[in-house]
Amino acid sequence: MKIMFLGAPGAGKGTQAEIASEKFGIPAISTGAIIREAIKTGTPMGVAAKQYTEQGALVPDSVVIGIIKERLEKDDCKNGFILDGFPRTVAQAEALDELGVELDVVVSIEVSDEKIVSRMSGRRVCDKCGASYHVEYKPSKDGKTCDNDGCVLTMRKDDSPEVVLSRLQIYHECTEPLKDFYLAKGKLKLVEGQEEVADTTRLTLEALGGK
Ligand code: AMP
Repeated sequence: MKIMFLGAPGAGKGTQAEIASEKFGIPAISTGAIIREAIKTGTPMGVAAKQYTEQGALVPDSVVIGIIKERLEKDDCKNGFILDGFPRTVAQAEALDELGVELDVVVSIEVSDEKIVSRMSGRRVCDKCGASYHVEYKPSKDGKTCDNDGCVLTMRKDDSPEVVLSRLQIYHECTEPLKDFYLAKGKLKLVEGQEEVADTTRLTLEALGGK
């Protein structure tokens, strides 16, 4: 099964992608996570991407398409995969078509801009393993350190309120048109993002039902 999660930054795509990955036994692929790792280790791609990502801008299509092409060629993608944060522009979606990838279903998690802004201020991440938490909706066990490795949780640079507003604007301009793109292909399912992660998961699994 090939699934794609669409949604504004902070809508909960990553969380639902991880849950679906466990459930269906296929990898969740986050271009954002791949880019953050490249920035951390200082690869040439990371150095090129840093300025865009930290300002909340999109990394150029050519770079991201290269990343996804390489990732989808890996063995663990043979039985399917879940895309989280790719494609993010119509040009990227067309590139995916050109790679011969046909998605089975695209789930768009719908959350208002107002809720996104308040949610993002509470997001905390582990710089070591990339795990994502929320001070209110998905706290780690002690609220301060990562459940996986005990590292102190931090706020992503691009989660500051002014960067979030610019990321939302980019989402509406560049990414939201993908809803029409996948609606026209008969692939789009809308899920209302809920306060509780488990409630969004229930609706997401319903939307994926029968797939
Ligand atoms: P995310 O973790 O999905 O919120 O992504 C974090 C950042 O990585 C984004 O704000 C972009 O700078 C970059 N990024 C991730 N995926 C893409 C993509 N498909 N196209 C362009 N930039 C991306």
